[in-house]
Amino acid sequence: MANLTLPGAGEASAKPDQTAALAQLPSIDRLLADASLAATLEQFGQPLVKRAAQDELGARRERLRAGDGAVPAALGELCAAIDARVRRRAASRLPAVFNLTGTVIHTNLGRALLPDEAIDAVAAAMRGFVALEYDVASGGRGDRDDVVDDLLCELTGAEGATVVNNCAAAVLLTLKALGAKKEVLISRGELIEIGGAFRMPDIMKAAGCKLVEVGTTNRTHARDFADAIGPRTALVLKAHTSNYAVTGFTAAVPEQELAAIAHARNIALAVDLGSGALIDLAQFGLPKEPLPQEVLAAGADLVMFSGDKLLGGPQAGLIVGRRDLVARIKKDPLKRALRVSKLTLAALEATLRIYASAFRLPERLPTLALLARGAEDIRAACERLLPALAQFAGAEFEARIEACASQIGSGAQPVERLPSCAVVLAPRLPKGAGRRLDALARRLRALPLPVIGRVQDNAVWLDLRCLRDEGALQAQLLRATVEEG
Ligand SMILES: *Cc1c(COP(=O)(O)O)cnc(C)c1O
Repeated sequence: MANLTLPGAGEASAKPDQTAALAQLPSIDRLLADASLAATLEQFGQPLVKRAAQDELGARRERLRAGDGAVPAALGELCAAIDARVRRRAASRLPAVFNLTGTVIHTNLGRALLPDEAIDAVAAAMRGFVALEYDVASGGRGDRDDVVDDLLCELTGAEGATVVNNCAAAVLLTLKALGAKKEVLISRGELIEIGGAFRMPDIMKAAGCKLVEVGTTNRTHARDFADAIGPRTALVLKAHTSNYAVTGFTAAVPEQELAAIAHARNIALAVDLGSGALIDLAQFGLPKEPLPQEVLAAGADLVMFSGDKLLGGPQAGLIVGRRDLVARIKKDPLKRALRVSKLTLAALEATLRIYASAFRLPERLPTLALLARGAEDIRAACERLLPALAQFAGAEFEARIEACASQIGSGAQPVERLPSCAVVLAPRLPKGAGRRLDALARRLRALPLPVIGRVQDNAVWLDLRCLRDEGALQAQLLRATVEEG
């Protein structure tokens, strides 16, 4: 012990080793010339491989200098580490995943799956020029909203329509264009937060409106609105309470009554509908959602809704309603900042055309197909996948099939559930169950196509409602089971 505490003794003995080890590290050129990196270079190109080699060598030098005892690596091992670095760097940060969460329109997993017709339209718009703001007939300038204007009016019965980046943008733009520096009335029961910092009071502030809260959290009456309207009122706003339900002793003012009160004082009624289905989903056994066309027919002057929720199209915010109000909204400079690209318009147009055709909707709209999928069909898929999942989970887990309930998601119908079926993987022993569950969930996420389920009641639940490519899941489970031994 004593001689180790002599100043510098430890260092003095380590130094020559360290220097020798550092000197033994191969040069970048030597590494790039090694045959084991030839395939990596061929696939990814020299700049990426060289940078990975520099990073790898840098990391090794640092470890040697820190004296963590690492011996200089064999050339083969170094090249393998460089290849792994290159692959990590080249891997997509937007990887495809299996959504087995049971939530169909899952904001964190990209919401709606788009129709093939929309995908083809987007691909065509990406590859070539399109008449986005160009009137081919006259050779003059066009308006990009014209791409979907007619379809949206036909489908909703509106006089005018415009499209922005998402529904949050639609609400912000509508409030700013029609209500800036004035008062906007909204029921206290509808001061919604949608998540991701979309809070109605904040949106009002951002739009420069003065928020006037009407009624109480659970009950708001027609007379509350009538009393609240004053000379500075610009707009009455109604927000669909899409991600929560107020139950018990409640009262809200229906659109029809609210519209009558607003119109009697020459004020417009705008409704933030959020999810916005364009067809009655009850015909597919799904819960009923308010439709923009119904809300307009009830007297609303404007309706805002999302393109990528129940509509099953691209992310977009749709504003439909009175022609003069839509014109004012389109003139606002903020519209330019919130406008959508040709890709969104191409996808949206193709999706709306499917609705307009009223033909084979569940076949052509994948999001609708997932929502309408029957529990028996899902159970059959569970039975087919059970052996591969059981094998992948291993002997420590019991694998069984259980009925469960899927969610529509994205704030559509928070209370309603869709009958579904799941493969449930539960640890056999209570000891260390939590750790085992986390490890299994991690292994599922580490698969080449990550599998995202949910952990609930001490088990991993894989709701197969949204599983479309059973073969791909099965194949990667079997491959991983073999590889992991
Ligand atoms: C989801 C939702 C929004 C936000 O829509 P995005 O398209 O996500 O911006 C706004 N209002 C309501 C009522 C919603 O349900």
